[in-house]
Amino acid sequence: MAVLSIRIIGDPVLRTPAAEVTQFGPELARLVADMVETMDDVHGAGLASPQVGVSLRVFTFRIGDASGHVVNPVLEVGTEPEPEEPEGCLSIPGLGYPVPRVSWARVTGLDLNGEPVEFEGTGMLARCFQHETDHLNGSLYIDRLVGEHRKDAMRAIRSSSYSSVADQTTRERSESIGSSFGLGTASTVQGGQPSTHGTRR
Ligand code: ZN
Repeated sequence: MAVLSIRIIGDPVLRTPAAEVTQFGPELARLVADMVETMDDVHGAGLASPQVGVSLRVFTFRIGDASGHVVNPVLEVGTEPEPEEPEGCLSIPGLGYPVPRVSWARVTGLDLNGEPVEFEGTGMLARCFQHETDHLNGSLYIDRLVGEHRKDAMRAIRSSSYSSVADQTTRERSESIGSSFGLGTASTVQGGQPSTHGTRR
């Protein structure tokens, strides 16, 4: 298993609708295992394959006691709006904005063996299912922002200080990847101080 590098906004793979999985075998099993390891390494609540540069319809999630993966997910949502809460994304480091979502969602799909799976949830879990399914369609949460939040997000992402935040995140994660492989020399990455772990979404 391996920790994969996470693609940052601006990478075209994040804007490409992902393809249905048609082959169930060791490669898919390895992808899912690596995604779980990557998600846990950065303390993420969910991760979609395009975020690790693989344009396939797969996501993983871990929220409280609920965790799993879904291949070729189909999302159903309720109509009741969820109270707006700040949402972040591993591919848009350092930012968070309240995103309009609905409070109930269900995903049905397959597991890595091709067996049917179904997950249903409210609150954070429902939010996660909506967020990750968006990724598989080439959408990001910032696309759903409205009004001032949208303006703020666009301004922040375009600013030069944002690209330095994103660069730093990428660098910190690459150090983390090195240490996860057990390579003692991984901190030859430029930047001096070792990164602090455990505060990233
Ligand atoms: Zn995301």
